[in-house]
Amino acid sequence: MNNKNVETVLAQRPLGLAFDFDGTLSPIAPTSEQAQLYPGVTDLLQRAQKFARVAILTGREIEDGARKINLDGLTYIGTHGLEWSDGLPWLHEVHIAPGALQHTAAGAYLLDLVAARQADLPGVVVQRKRVGGSIHYRLAPDQQETRQKLLELLAEPARRVNMQLSEGKRVVEIRPPLAIDKGQALRQFAQRNALRGLIFAGDDRTDLDGIMELAELRQQGLATLAITVRHHDTLPALLQHADIVVDEVPGMVALLRDIIEVVECS
Ligand SMILES: [Mg+2]
Repeated sequence: MNNKNVETVLAQRPLGLAFDFDGTLSPIAPTSEQAQLYPGVTDLLQRAQKFARVAILTGREIEDGARKINLDGLTYIGTHGLEWSDGLPWLHEVHIAPGALQHTAAGAYLLDLVAARQADLPGVVVQRKRVGGSIHYRLAPDQQETRQKLLELLAEPARRVNMQLSEGKRVVEIRPPLAIDKGQALRQFAQRNALRGLIFAGDDRTDLDGIMELAELRQQGLATLAITVRHHDTLPALLQHADIVVDEVPGMVALLRDIIEVVECS
């Protein structure tokens, strides 16, 4: 890891380390319930906490994401930036983006539409969140057809109730019409902690907002490092804008271990 940029970022204090969860610290599993932290990561996150402010930045609802990691003292940011908590959300206050809760009913209505059509959508899993939710079609026999059916079913009703549809890998997301994304969440994380350096790692479309925001923060004087975790289907823009690309979750975990050893030995 003889990268000048890496050394510069790691020398900053306060330093922030922010990670996406699924596909970054946890291999993609058939269902989101089955996903687990890669072996050894809990220990690495604990060691990282000694020199950095560590955040988990997930599209999962905050409690769901935090349960998967279950380490107090990390910052948990859920639903792509809609909720955050300094520490485990059942022990510490959960902050919710202003204006988000007024879209709870609209989100539930759209998820109900999908649930009512479940017989016609085999393999589809509806995951409800505090506001909006995710509709996973990874287990559908015909993923492309299922994606098309979901988008057709939801496009007009979503427009009518003023909710946004977005997509990740084999998932359609129902989100409130607010300017909230992982980029804005990273900026707030940096501001709240007066960070001088920030590393962020992710693997999916929603992480691109975070990676692009790092470039903005760098313009404003922060030392930043963007890591893309490459899978066979990674969006080209994520590879293009990354400072470092690692291969799959084991590659990410190896890099995290290197980063920690560099700091611990310095
Ligand atoms: Mg991910």
